[in-house]
Amino acid sequence: MPVEVNKEMCIGCGACVGVCPVGALQLDEEGKAESDVDVCIDCGGCIDTCPMGAISAKE
Ligand code: SF4
Ligand code: SF4
Repeated sequence: MPVEVNKEMCIGCGACVGVCPVGALQLDEEGKAESDVDVCIDCGGCIDTCPMGAISAKE
């Protein structure tokens, strides 16, 4: 399932953007990560990479 970012927890480090193999993550205008659920291939890499635990599998 796709992932979602808890923007309250995101510190905008960009680590998830760099690790995503399909470019499904980017930083928004406030410097917070956001995911494109149509592009995400559910690899889970960003969930493991985020130092803040801000990314989780979407229900
Ligand atoms: S789960 Fe994988 S494909 Fe989906 S946004 Fe995270 S790193 Fe990218
Ligand atoms: S890795 Fe976590 S804290 Fe860093 S930009 Fe991505 S969601 Fe935000």
